[in-house]
Amino acid sequence: MSTPKVILKPKRAQPFFGRHPWVFAGAIDRVEGTPADGDEVDVYSGGGNFVARGLFNSQSKIHVRLYSWDPGVALDAAFFRDRLARAVDLRHHVLNLAGPDKGYRVVFSESDFLSGMVVDRYADWLTVQFTALGLARRRELIAGVLRDLLNPRGIYLRTEKGIGKLEGVELYDGPLWGELPPPDLTIEENGLRFLVNLAEGQKTGYYLDQRDNRAAVARLCPGKRVLDAFCYTGGFGLYAAKAGAAEVLGVDASEPALELARRNAVVNGLGTVSFTCADVFRQLADLVAAGRKFDVVVLDPPKFARNRAAVPEALKGYRRLHQLALKLLDRDGILVSCCCTGLIALADLEELIGQVAVEARRDLQILERRGPSPDHPVAISCRETGYLKCVISRVL
Ligand code: SAH
Repeated sequence: MSTPKVILKPKRAQPFFGRHPWVFAGAIDRVEGTPADGDEVDVYSGGGNFVARGLFNSQSKIHVRLYSWDPGVALDAAFFRDRLARAVDLRHHVLNLAGPDKGYRVVFSESDFLSGMVVDRYADWLTVQFTALGLARRRELIAGVLRDLLNPRGIYLRTEKGIGKLEGVELYDGPLWGELPPPDLTIEENGLRFLVNLAEGQKTGYYLDQRDNRAAVARLCPGKRVLDAFCYTGGFGLYAAKAGAAEVLGVDASEPALELARRNAVVNGLGTVSFTCADVFRQLADLVAAGRKFDVVVLDPPKFARNRAAVPEALKGYRRLHQLALKLLDRDGILVSCCCTGLIALADLEELIGQVAVEARRDLQILERRGPSPDHPVAISCRETGYLKCVISRVL
């Protein structure tokens, strides 16, 4: 039986010749054959040229996710083994992130040419998150390959909220294979230990993307008073304490996250850290009212906008946070502005930081413009994968 064909509308093939993997329904002229959701299809231009092979899903706005630009290559076990092996090779043999108790992202969806799946490693466990029906249906095959390549003790499935509706895929959090993760699972990161609750923690348990930014900020913290806003399980704040900060205050609205943060402080023998459960906007305003000052302020809020319509409101949120942070920063203090909203570009973030500094009548120098750790690469064909910005500045 021949592979069903998806024929694009005239003049709509260019992004896909450019290897962008998302074929939205609106770009499609017609389907030849009757692919079921999850089946392989070949995508052709309106002019009749082969573009790429992908997996079909009539229930998603992304009707076809593309995986191979070589004609005649089947998306079978050998294909996924090759893709996954190359993702693992980057982390193990290029970035040298492997090792006992290490945590790193093994597969980052489009960035690793596997649109719709994320795999994280936490010591001997893997978490897998599927955001594409085609790959979710192949989860047994994928789990088998991951076991061969990484030899974990267990693989745990995490699902993103709302993904059932978006992709028509029925998935639930729970073990996919092997042993359940222990309740006190810890990873080691730059000499610090972090407890990770990979069954119930946010995202897949921990924010691996900030690893190098935490280390970069820590270098600026010896002897300093540090405010870690949106601290989750203590990331930036614990690095700062270990680097010799005089005092660290972490703030987050999640009590379960702070419980781990407090335990992390104990595990690492760090006594100069305290954590407060509060809404950051409120807490920062209270600290301003109380006349408190800090030498370093880290802002690492969650994603504020999921679509373009939400961007203006998101920018207001970032603006408010920066206004408060500047009031808390003492003379020549360090401001760390993280932004994981992909729809807000680095230029937009810097524009906003600049405006807030001018309003506050303060000079500001950017010291570092950073992105995520390189186990979260950016595929040049899908630059939407570059979402995290971290701007470190000095505020005079
Ligand atoms: N800096 C952390 C990651 C932060 S993720 C690290 O290095 O690991 C964003 C955090 O913001 C989450 O822990 C979430 O609980 C918290 N959060 C979201 N909205 C909040 C709010 N309005 N006030 C306080 N915390 C909030």
